[in-house]
Amino acid sequence: VAHGTHPRRVLLKLSGEVFGGGSIGLDPDVVSDAARQIAEAVRAGVQVSVVVGGGNFFRGAELSSRGMDRARADYMGMLGTVMNALALQDFIEKAGVPARVQTAIAMGQVAESYIPLRAIRHMEKNRVVVFGAGAGLPYFSTDTVSAQRALETHCDELLVGKNGVDGVYTADPRKNPDARRLDQLTYERALADGLQVVDASAFALCRDNGLTMRVFGMGEPGNITRALLGERIGTLVSC
Ligand code: UDP
Repeated sequence: VAHGTHPRRVLLKLSGEVFGGGSIGLDPDVVSDAARQIAEAVRAGVQVSVVVGGGNFFRGAELSSRGMDRARADYMGMLGTVMNALALQDFIEKAGVPARVQTAIAMGQVAESYIPLRAIRHMEKNRVVVFGAGAGLPYFSTDTVSAQRALETHCDELLVGKNGVDGVYTADPRKNPDARRLDQLTYERALADGLQVVDASAFALCRDNGLTMRVFGMGEPGNITRALLGERIGTLVSC
């Protein structure tokens, strides 16, 4: 799957919602299916890193709206992403591909710290790198972190896997029956139209640095592998 002169390298963002299979905690069947799809793409020659969300455990904004200090609640949210990262690592290894977790909050017994050059080296050796604990910073989201990690580790593309939608629509398809799916759109338009499919700060970071993003639905079996291999599913967002 050569891309230019070097192998294709991508960052996959998976939301925590996916891992929970719609409820709190982990659905091992869902995680293992995602892991097998990732392993398949690695075996086909794609270098893969993953940012995992944590919405299946805690979202800082929700806890803070119910009285918790926002920053402390955000740290709980970040710790949730680490549990997802460890589960994904385990299932990727069970699928026969080595995987490393790197966290933005140091926790030496369970994961490496985030070291970008080492992350690149892992990918070059066909190990999957799973980034946990977001940016390590309250008030950030894992969407924004996925754009940042993709940029810093020189990924060719950011792939955003979604539950419930199969791309970017002109309006929320769950609320508006006239909403149409777009094959492609610009970051300017996504921001101007206030499309919420990904955080505005993630769109802005990609726009400012010329990183393309593909938003795709995970409902269709095998779509994670397809996106990793570079098939034109979902919606391409670019400058
Ligand atoms: N979070 C944070 N800083 C980060 C990444 C995540 O504070 O850099 C916290 C935040 O509270 C967020 C939670 O972790 O609500 C889970 O992440 P996110 O909501 O992005 O997960 P997803 O919606 O993708 O499951």
